[in-house]
Amino acid sequence: MDDSAKPSDEPRAPFENVAFLESAWGRFRSGEAVPCPRDEATFALSVDGAVGAYRFVCTRCGLASPWFESGSGGVRVRAHTHEGEHGGASGA
Ligand SMILES: [Zn+2]
Repeated sequence: MDDSAKPSDEPRAPFENVAFLESAWGRFRSGEAVPCPRDEATFALSVDGAVGAYRFVCTRCGLASPWFESGSGGVRVRAHTHEGEHGGASGA
């Protein structure tokens, strides 16, 4: 009747998987379009030149990867870069 192949656990955050991010980055660098796992729209790349970090953002649904760096060892997800650029903490 209803053969819904609906997974009970939707991959809502595929970018939590670093392997996914690495493969997406690899494809992007080789000039391929990287399809969004949700809606198959194309990811755009955001670049934060100040810190040398990148991020994929879906052009349609807005699904975004965490900020990451691309180094010699491959992709490295940056730790929470919130708004901690200004070192206002005075307790050393
Ligand atoms: Zn999308």
